[in-house]
Amino acid sequence: MYCKPKIIVFAGIDGSGKSTQLELLNNELIKSYRVFISKIEYMSLNDMNKSLIRNLLIEFKSGIEILKQTIGLYTKDNKFDYILCDRYLMCYLAYAYVYGIEPIELIRKMLFFIKNPDLTLYFDIDVNLALKRIQERDSELDKHENYESLSKAKEGYEKLYRYSGNLEIIDANRSAKEINANVKEVLIRRKLI
Ligand code: ADP
Repeated sequence: MYCKPKIIVFAGIDGSGKSTQLELLNNELIKSYRVFISKIEYMSLNDMNKSLIRNLLIEFKSGIEILKQTIGLYTKDNKFDYILCDRYLMCYLAYAYVYGIEPIELIRKMLFFIKNPDLTLYFDIDVNLALKRIQERDSELDKHENYESLSKAKEGYEKLYRYSGNLEIIDANRSAKEINANVKEVLIRRKLI
């Protein structure tokens, strides 16, 4: 039987708990299902200047990263039941917004080949709490992140998340256990499990 994996996207600013929640869900799913994890990286945010060349380079690199992830997703049919994505197109666009790149234009260019996720979990977190978590995670504050860049990324997400398929906004200010229970409730309610 032909089997199309369900694509679940974990989105949110750095420190919002994407990786933690992906791992918690993965640990449960792998007991019964074949799971593939897809992660995209993005460029550092420590230099937020408005240079045209830099913006073009970021846009190009972003395009390549998204293309790589998308091609990867197209080759997983029949091999996996779930694909858990640590970041997706929307995440890139939110960060592109930090650099002043016009996101709507990027969406227009990229939407035709992007797979619509079966579920987008947007982890909504207070910026100060995200910064505190990053600080604790990395022992010294990650040089790429500060209050300004994270706030701008959050603003980008809030402008854009309606463009990502099957969106659920998750309150990420709670304990990891509470959030995990919420994620599972969403999967059951949406008949994804
Ligand atoms: P992201 O992948 O979104 O950058 P992480 O999952 O790496 O976020 O979480 C950032 C840090 O916060 C990690 O050190 C993680 O252990 C911790 N963390 C994640 N979720 C919670 C939570 N609900 N409460 C407290 N700390 C958390």
